[in-house]
Parts: sequence; C-alpha cells; structure tokens
Amino acid sequence: MAKTDNKIMEKIVSLCKRRGFIFPSSEIYGGLASTWDYGPLGVELKRNVKDAWWKANVHQRFDMEGLDAAILMHPDVWKASGHIENFSDLLVDCRDCKKRFKKEDLAEQSNCPNCKSDNLTKPREFNLMFKAPIGPVEDEEYVYLRPETAQGIFVNFVNVLDSRHRKVPFGIAQIGKAYRNEITPGNFTFRTREFEQMEIEYFVKPGEDEKFYKEWIDERFDWYMRLGIKKDNLRLREHAKDELAHYARGCTDIEYNFPFGWSELEGIANRGDFDLKQHAEFSGKDLSFFDVKTNQRFLPFVIEPSGGIDRALLAFLVDSYREEQVKGKLRVVLGLDKALSPIKAAVLPLLKNRPEIVELAKKIAKGLSRKIVVRYDDTAAIGKLYRRQDEVGTLYCITVDVDTLTDKQVTIRDRDSMQQERIAIDRVEEYLEEKLA
Ligand code: ATP
Repeated sequence: MAKTDNKIMEKIVSLCKRRGFIFPSSEIYGGLASTWDYGPLGVELKRNVKDAWWKANVHQRFDMEGLDAAILMHPDVWKASGHIENFSDLLVDCRDCKKRFKKEDLAEQSNCPNCKSDNLTKPREFNLMFKAPIGPVEDEEYVYLRPETAQGIFVNFVNVLDSRHRKVPFGIAQIGKAYRNEITPGNFTFRTREFEQMEIEYFVKPGEDEKFYKEWIDERFDWYMRLGIKKDNLRLREHAKDELAHYARGCTDIEYNFPFGWSELEGIANRGDFDLKQHAEFSGKDLSFFDVKTNQRFLPFVIEPSGGIDRALLAFLVDSYREEQVKGKLRVVLGLDKALSPIKAAVLPLLKNRPEIVELAKKIAKGLSRKIVVRYDDTAAIGKLYRRQDEVGTLYCITVDVDTLTDKQVTIRDRDSMQQERIAIDRVEEYLEEKLA
C-alpha cells in the first residue's frame, strides 16, 4: 500500500475492529485512553509474531536460552538500573488549553503546539514507572510495574549461566509485558502504557562487543524482512554520540516507515558492562564470569536487541495491507507471511442447506485442526466468505460442493493468486503441509 495514502491508518484501525484483531479496551465503558485489547484474530497474530521471534532467537540458535521472569521485582533493581533516578521525561503543560507535552517534542518552540498560547508551565520531571503498593499495608511498601523486561534477565544472569553450564558468548531471550506511564501515548498501538517487549541480552567478552553488536543489527533487520516487511520500508538509524546514555558504546534503531512517519521498531544497543556492574554493586553478589580457557575472570559486556511486539505487529499489518480491483470490485487483502497469518485455511461449504455437505466440510476442518489453525465458516455466500478471509490474511480457502460428495475432491483457493485447484480430500493435509513449510 502506498504510504502516501494518509487514510491507511484509519483503514487499519477500522479493519482491526471490524474483523476482530484489536478492540479499544473497556469499550462498553467508553474505553481507556490508548489501551487496546487483542481480539480473536489479534491474539493469534500476536502469538505468531512471538513464536516467529522465539523460534529464530531461541529454538534455532544454540547460543541462546529463554526466560520468563516476574513482572514485579525487588525495588532495589530499579535503583541499580538507574530507572528511579533517570527514567523520566520533562513535562510541559499549557495553562490555557490544558494539553500536555514532552519537552523534547517542543524543541525550541515556546508556544503551545495546540493553541499557540505562550502560557506554558516550566518543564517538570515525570517518572514513567507505575508504582503500586504491595502487601496489606498501603503506603508502606511499593513495587514498580517493570518498564522493560531486560532487568529480569540481568538479575538471572548467574542462574542461567550455572544451571545451563553456559560459557560466554551466549544470550538470554525474553518476551513479556512492560508498563510505562507515557505522557503522550498514541498512533494506535504504537505507543501505549501497557505493551509487550521481546528482548535479548547477549553476553560477550569485552573486546568482542563491536563484532556481536554489528551481527545483531544485521540479524534483527533481516528478521523483519524474512517475515515479509518490504526492504524500502525499513531503515537503520545510528544514534549520535550526544543521544547515547553515558555508559552506552553504541545504539542503532531499526525504523519502519509507518503512515505517521519513520518510527522505532527496535533498538540494538552495546551497553558495555554497565548493567552487570550496577547489579553486582547493589546486590553485593559476584556477577562475573570465569573463563577456564584463559584463566580470566571478567564482567561480560552486553549487546541488547530490544523490540516491541505491538509495534512489530502494527508494522506487519500496515505493510501487508493492500487493495486491488478484481473484476471491477475492490478486494482488500492482508498479504501476511504464512508464518504470521492468524488462519492458515478456512473450510467453506458451498451450500449450507445440504447437511451432507456441511457435515463433510466440518469433518475436513476437524481433521486439519490437528496440524494447523483452521476455521469452518458458513455464515454467508461463498463470494462474501472469500472476501472476508482475504481481509484477515487467510492463506487457503477449501470449498466443499455438491461434486465433492461423489468425486471426493475439494477446491483449494490461494489467497494471493486467487488460483483454484481441485484436489482429493485425502491429499489436502499433505498439500497444505507442503505449502506452509
Ligand atoms: P521510544 O523512543 O519510541 O519511546 P524507547 O527508545 O524508549 O522508545 P526502548 O526503551 O528502547 O524504547 O524499548 C524497546 C522497545 O520497546 C521499543 O523499540 C519499542 O518497540 C517498545 N516500546 C517502548 N515503549 C513502548 C510503548 N510505550 N508502547 C509500545 N511499545 C513500546
């Protein structure tokens, strides 16, 4: 879809609602600003994005381990990580129209971008972490909802190292929820207060960090392309020296050309030994690694590819959305990669008032459901059913008709080419397995 089509975000938001991908949270109560629920097809798509990431970064690599740490952590974690002191934005309020802005978004401007008033407050520090009371006595003890999943990995570094007999270099991968009390959430699911991250901490020997930093940038960029994102819509943006945190030795963002402009999908950072050093100091525990080969003990450096599931999912939706004219009619297609499509095949009876056809179609669907995500649908005429399936990215439609009862064959229609093939029922499973491999 041409990115100049400024209606595309509206179309995506509307398709997501209409077809059950993403709903506004608590909608019957009027919604909660910038908070979203993944519906029946959204949850499948999200699982597929996570599975694709997990497969590429844990199952298909022998230098990686997985982890699922708790969201709530010891409050000292956030002292050590620097989040209590530094994880804040500068906030400016307009006293006239009451809108609120991040100082960095105002740049040199001294007027309100909304109403042009110059009646702005001075910038105030605003910590982005959600604080919650823990235990029965309110106001006494607090925990934070984690603003990133990374710290759960650092505090488990030695647990994973020891229990899995690991040697540096190796990495730990984790997917999970993170929370930030963002001042200016928006652009649908791009910036929200509750979101999901996919993060890797890759531990390396100091001196080898630059090499692995470059490798991870290439690998992560490639991952988005392997899953179908067009190369022209992806770019790398290296952070300038003055953008980097004091400890960071380098940081590069992977950006996607969203309809609202180039924006960050993921950041890959070379963090040196900052994180392990801080946790060693604050916890009093030794977090170093002893290399038996060289007889050396050192604190590993860390390369961190850190991305957002929701942002990746939004990019996959935007990038795969297309509109075509077919015989004078509009066809909307989500051309999602086969690994991502929420429904791999739909089984559709041509005549729903013929019980033998319905029964056979359901039987075929049931059989296939052992292997793939398949749906049975008889809620409309065939033309409409095809269109609905195209719009949610279903790869194959299998139609059962009157002839099927005698010749034991079905028609399989391919989403992208719309070509139809007649094949024997007992070959369908093998056919799909080949196509989806
Ligand atoms: P931004 O500059 O857009 O606020 P960031 O640089 O603060 O992002 P990181 O702290 O590097 O983000 O987090 C890693 C990833 O987590 C981001 O690349 C993004 O994909 C995701 N992410 C961060 N904040 C949000 C959010 N509020 N909503 C959705 N995803 C987010």
